[in-house]
Amino acid sequence: AKTAGRNRHVWFNTAMEQSLQVRGELESGLRLAVAAQDIIPYFEQQVDLATGLTTGFEVLARWDHPTRGMIPPDVFIPIAEEIGVIGDLSLSLMRQACTAARDWDSALTLSINISPVQLRDAWLAQKIIKTLVETGFPASRLEIEVTESALFDNLALAQSIVGSLKNQGIRLALDDFGTGFSSLAHLRALPFDRIKIDHSFVASILDNAESMAIVNTIVRLGDSLNLPVTAEGIEDAAVEERLRALGCAKGQGYLYGRPMNAAQLRRLLAEQRLL
Ligand code: C2E
Ligand code: CA
Ligand code: CA
Ligand code: CA
Repeated sequence: AKTAGRNRHVWFNTAMEQSLQVRGELESGLRLAVAAQDIIPYFEQQVDLATGLTTGFEVLARWDHPTRGMIPPDVFIPIAEEIGVIGDLSLSLMRQACTAARDWDSALTLSINISPVQLRDAWLAQKIIKTLVETGFPASRLEIEVTESALFDNLALAQSIVGSLKNQGIRLALDDFGTGFSSLAHLRALPFDRIKIDHSFVASILDNAESMAIVNTIVRLGDSLNLPVTAEGIEDAAVEERLRALGCAKGQGYLYGRPMNAAQLRRLLAEQRLL
């Protein structure tokens, strides 16, 4: 038992060392990747549930890694926040996405995720506006998605950044609504234009009465606050149909296709005559 215990201990250290090694590699690699524009935008369709038409795309970060393949954002966004490169990463992504979107149909919007860490940068609004000017993408077609209570650690600054963005005509969405990171209190803190329901509720509305009640309540809440609601994580037509019946304005999810890169998206838009 003692040996097993010691072995377990040794194994634990090795695993820890390995993960620290991977972590170190990710950290240094990430700084380079941001500079080299190896963090690239993928695009996820957003659909008007009443008409079935595509209204725009959410930009999702991917790390196109030379040896590890495509790394998902859950792995590197938290590291980027910790090592202080999230601002550069996010603006690089926005520049690439806005450049790709420049010649799209003028009705299509772009939604971009902003980390709460970025809402501590007093220059954030100026940086975003500069990126729009440089790429020629109109502010009125940009929506910014935020989550998280961390925005409360400097609420006055977050409010002033958001005020500057909204003055330019940029819209603001409260992401992952209903999870621990986005609560009712947030709705009063910042002037949101939209609520996004987290996919954890959406996926289970047909087989879980609580999820159904929560989604219904969020849609009603949006109604009374005059905030259109987007449901994320729609994977099948029956869920879509139920959301439509509830009066949910927009949807996104694998039902409409997996997130795709800029080249794949161009082909899709060309087919749909949206270029
Ligand atoms: P999110 O903002 O909630 O983005 C939606 C996530 O749900 C995406 O995962 C998307 O691929 C996934 N998804 C879409 N449809 C479905 C579906 O039908 N079923 C399921 N199960 N999942 C679906 P992804 O791309 O891995 O992004 C994960 C999270 O990483 C995002 O969640 C967002 O919080 C964060 N993230 C992504 N890009 C950025 C970024 O540029 N900046 C920041 N700060 N965060 C980002
Ligand atoms: Ca989002
Ligand atoms: Ca979300
Ligand atoms: Ca989410």
